[in-house]
Amino acid sequence: MIRSYIALGSNLNLPKQQVLRAIKTIAATPGCELFAQSHLYGSVAVGPGTQDNYVNAVIAIDTTLSATSLLNTLQAIETQHQRERTVRWAARTLDLDLLLYGNANIHTPELTVPHPRMFDRDFVLRPLADIAPKALLRHYLRDKLGDHAELDYSDNENLWVLESDDKAITS
Ligand code: AMP
Repeated sequence: MIRSYIALGSNLNLPKQQVLRAIKTIAATPGCELFAQSHLYGSVAVGPGTQDNYVNAVIAIDTTLSATSLLNTLQAIETQHQRERTVRWAARTLDLDLLLYGNANIHTPELTVPHPRMFDRDFVLRPLADIAPKALLRHYLRDKLGDHAELDYSDNENLWVLESDDKAITS
């Protein structure tokens, strides 16, 4: 079994439900066992144009799938979710990123692990910090952490723990 970390994000079509349903689907996939789940976060979309806020989370799974099979599985789940009717294709119904696969370093045309952009994205690092061992965070984040022993996050206007009654995101 390989401990693997997956980031989930959605800002379209009831994003909170998209993320929760994707977690259920991953957990029900043969060869995948859900080990841990971060809080759900709200985040302001980064990138061009105006987009709705995102819902983000990170999960840890234990898997017998190869990294390539896991990526294929995640892409199939993304496709299932994209098939739902959307108004604006620029926004993401569901984005699934394979962050870490054990301690593997993978560089193929289809797959880069650790995910190349994860270390710049607070909406990935903060949920990851909810569930990843401190030693793992320190290992991957030593440049970013500097002298600090651990990531020190609190809610801000760009990233916040999602409350169950956050209507701006759930409706
Ligand atoms: P995106 O549009 O950000 O979802 O990127 C999807 C593309 O990134 C796909 O073509 C994947 O093959 C590629 N990719 C490379 N590394 C990863 C990774 N660690 N997790 C998810 N997709 C990846």
